[in-house]
Amino acid sequence: MRVAIVGTGYVGLVTGACFAEMGHEVICVDVVEEKVAKLRSGQIPIHEPGLPEIVERGLAAGRLAFTTSLAEAVVPAQFVFICVPTPPAEDGSADLSHVEKVATDVAPLISTYKIIVNKSTIPVGSSKRVERIVRERLGPGVEADVASNPEFLREGSAVFDFMHPDRIVMGTRNERAAGMLTELYRSLGAPLIVTDPETAEMIKYASNAFLATKISFINAISNICDAVGADVKEVALGMGYDARIGFEFLKPGPGFGGSCFPKDSKALISVAEQNGYDFHLLRGVLEVNEQQHRIIANKVEKVTGGVGGKTIAAWGLAFKPNTDDVRDSPAIAVLQELMDRGATIRAYDPVVAESVYGTLGIERAPGPIEAAEGADAVLLLTEWNEFRWLDFERLRDSMRAPAIVDARNLLDPHTLRQLGFRYEGVGR
Ligand code: NAD
Repeated sequence: MRVAIVGTGYVGLVTGACFAEMGHEVICVDVVEEKVAKLRSGQIPIHEPGLPEIVERGLAAGRLAFTTSLAEAVVPAQFVFICVPTPPAEDGSADLSHVEKVATDVAPLISTYKIIVNKSTIPVGSSKRVERIVRERLGPGVEADVASNPEFLREGSAVFDFMHPDRIVMGTRNERAAGMLTELYRSLGAPLIVTDPETAEMIKYASNAFLATKISFINAISNICDAVGADVKEVALGMGYDARIGFEFLKPGPGFGGSCFPKDSKALISVAEQNGYDFHLLRGVLEVNEQQHRIIANKVEKVTGGVGGKTIAAWGLAFKPNTDDVRDSPAIAVLQELMDRGATIRAYDPVVAESVYGTLGIERAPGPIEAAEGADAVLLLTEWNEFRWLDFERLRDSMRAPAIVDARNLLDPHTLRQLGFRYEGVGR
C-alpha cells in the first residue's frame, strides 16, 4: 500500500521505515531540509537501535523515500500519517498548531480517496477538528476520511515495539477506513481495537497517565522505604508477582521524563479541567515527579556533605537508556538543581549530542571514569548497561572522595561499600 508520513522525528521516521520494511511504499516528508538530505543518504539523525538497518534496506529496495515536498508524498498516497509534534502550550494543554497546519496543507492536495491518520498524540476531540479542517478544504466530489491511530512505541526500542505491538488502536467511525487500516497493519498480526476517534485518543492519554502514575507511586514508596529502612527493589518484586500489578514500571529513580509522559499528563489534566473535572490524582503524580528531582539532589548533598563548590560526575543525560533524547530528561532536571545549589558538573553519556553539554553549561568527559577524576561524587542518572561493568577500584582511586549516588539502583551496594564507597541508592 502507498503511505505518506508527515514529520520524520522519533515516531514518523520509525513508522515510515517500519511500513517500508513490511513491504509498503513509503514517502516521508519533513520541513527540515538538512534532515531530509541526511536521510536520503542513509544518515539517521536519532539514536534508535535497528533503525539504520531498516532505513538502509528501505532505501535500497526503493520502497522508502524522503522529500521536503508535501505534494510529492501526499499525491500518490492512500494513507497520510500525521507524525508532527504536539508540544505543551503555556497552560499545559496540547498545542495542535503543527497538526492543524499539516491538515490545512494536505487537504487541497487530495484528488483521490485518502485516509488522513493522526499518529501524533492529540487530545480527545482533536480528530474532529482535523476532520473539519480537511472537509472544508476538499475539492468538489473528492473523498477523504480522518482516523486516529495513536502510537505506543518506546524510544530506545521503537523499531521492535512498532513491529511487535501489544495492540493497534484505530479510531474511526468509517468502515472503509477501518478496513484499509486493518490491511495496512495485517502482517503484524497484533490485536486490533477498532473504536471511535475520541476513545482512541483517550486510550493513548490514559495509558501514558497510568504508566506515569506507576512510576510516581513507586518513587513515593521508595521515599518511605528510605525512611523506614525497607528495600524498595524487594518491595517491587513482591508486588510485581501479583498478576494484577505486574513488574513493569515499578523501578524508582529520578522521576519520569521524555517527550511524552510529562506533556501528555499535563494535557490530560487540561482536558479534564475543560470538562469540569479536577484530575487531582494526576496532578499529584506530577508533583511527586518534580519532588523526586530534589530528593535525588538531596542524596548528593548527603554523600558530599554539601554540594556548594564540589564537582559531581554525572553518568547519563538521556531520559532513559538506548536513546539520545534529552527532552524533559529527569537527569537534566536533577543536574540543574545541583548547579543551582553551587555544584560543578562533569558529565558522560554514550550517545547524547555534544551540543547538549554546551547548552547546559556542563563539561563533557569522554568516559565514565574520566568524568569522575577528582570528583566529589558520582551521580548515576541513566541506566546505561556500560555503567554496570566498570573497574570500580580504578574509579575509587581516581576520585577525590569515593561516593556514588545511584539514582537508578543499577549497582550493587554491598560490593561498592566493601570497596570503600559511600553508596546511596533510591529506597534501599
Ligand atoms: P519529533 O519532534 O521527534 O518529530 C517531529 C518531526 O515533525 C520533526 O522532524 C519536525 O521537523 C517535523 N515537522 C514539524 N512540522 C512539520 C510539518 N508541517 N510538515 C512536515 N514535518 C513537520 O516528535 P516525535 O517524538 O516523533 O513525536 C511526534 C508525535 O508523536 C507527538 O505528538 C508525540 O506526542 C507522539 N508520540 C511520541 C512518542 C515518542 O516516544 N517520541 C511516542 C508516541 C507518540
